[in-house]
Amino acid sequence: MCLTIPGKVLKIKQNTALLKMQNGVRRIDITTVSGVKVGDWLLATVDLAVKKINQNEAHEILKLLGGRKNLILADQINPKIKEILKVASQRALTKKEILTLLKTQGKEKEALFSEADIIRKTYLKDFICIHGIIEFSNYCQNNCLYCGLRRENKRLRHYRMTIDEIIKTAKYTCNKIGYKMLILQSGVDFGYSDSNLVKIVSEIKKCCRCFLFMSVGERSLEGYRKMKKAGADGILLRFETSNKELYKKIHNINPTPKTQNFKSILSDRISLIKNLKKMGYYLVSGFLIGLPRQATEDVANDILMCQKLGLQMVTFGPFIPCQNTPFASKKAGNMDLVYKTIAVSRLLMKNARIPITTAMETQDLKARHLGLQRGANALMFNLTPKKYAKSYEIYSNKIYSRDRRLEKLALFSGKKSWKMLEQELNQKFK
Ligand code: SAH
Repeated sequence: MCLTIPGKVLKIKQNTALLKMQNGVRRIDITTVSGVKVGDWLLATVDLAVKKINQNEAHEILKLLGGRKNLILADQINPKIKEILKVASQRALTKKEILTLLKTQGKEKEALFSEADIIRKTYLKDFICIHGIIEFSNYCQNNCLYCGLRRENKRLRHYRMTIDEIIKTAKYTCNKIGYKMLILQSGVDFGYSDSNLVKIVSEIKKCCRCFLFMSVGERSLEGYRKMKKAGADGILLRFETSNKELYKKIHNINPTPKTQNFKSILSDRISLIKNLKKMGYYLVSGFLIGLPRQATEDVANDILMCQKLGLQMVTFGPFIPCQNTPFASKKAGNMDLVYKTIAVSRLLMKNARIPITTAMETQDLKARHLGLQRGANALMFNLTPKKYAKSYEIYSNKIYSRDRRLEKLALFSGKKSWKMLEQELNQKFK
């Protein structure tokens, strides 16, 4: 369920092996893997061997997660930026400091990336977690200006998976492929009643040992309470932007009587997110970068909002124009700003999970590699059945991101993988 940095076996003594890692040596228990020899490459949790891999696979992972140079101490860095990067490890940054970092270029920007990478490694070690997402319906009652699922997009080929289909896909994802972190996402679709969602959650939790996130938009607190009771572990609900004027402008234009519960008011969304956290959900939220009329200062506020909400996972991505929406001809969010947002978010939220999102990968084929070296620590792979995946068109040319080689290296079953998940969730390896 997590990809870890491989190490080479230096020495074996009874049930333990000394692993040579990129930056030092580590002693691990090898009772969980049979036939380990000196010279083998191993993936391991903090203290337990997970599996043997071959040299090519080891090099592939090392290339993906490979080390960066520590640039913060380099002489040529502007002293003001150097100072901000240094204090980031001791105290929270101010909005002004965040904005300065979001505007860095050249060597200063590289220093920011390098510091974020160091913090990610220090706090989260080399655990790159892979989440699976199943997009089970593209019906949405809302009419957000930026989103291809909007109610008034009559060109969208609609689909709604049946309850059985959703459960079957989840079973395949968890029990056959080995995912342990599953996200079920849809538009705001009341075609599924609360009891339908409860049934989906409880059936999946009955037959799959997984950490289940729901991403179904604004619904009643009562509905969310019932899903929690049925076993849902987390919620993914972005606040989209912390600028309340912008929020109002881009959301729910022309509400219908049916959509009255969605008031396009930012404070409603924020209060729902806070309530979900109080309910005990593991909370994932975030924002869009590069919305029309969004300023860099708004992005600084968005990062601060994530920090204030105490999110366990922060998710954001570039706005990408979608055909057949009012924003079809707008400019996409800038990836340079996205990478800086990853890095600054890491400086502020050292323990948070920060995934490389599909929108990032759609905009930059190197996003996986670059993002993981600039503070991100998770990947999101799409497990929506092929016949539907293309129709979940929140933006144009969305890529279907799934890497079966990485899946093979990162997903494994049994006790080891649960131990790793627990370590991940509880940050026990801090
Ligand atoms: N119904 C759920 C899921 C919405 S779609 C909910 O309301 O939370 C998931 C995310 O896609 C949204 O939160 C939004 O941030 C993102 N998204 C929508 N349109 C987009 C676009 N044009 N470009 C990039 N991301 C977009």
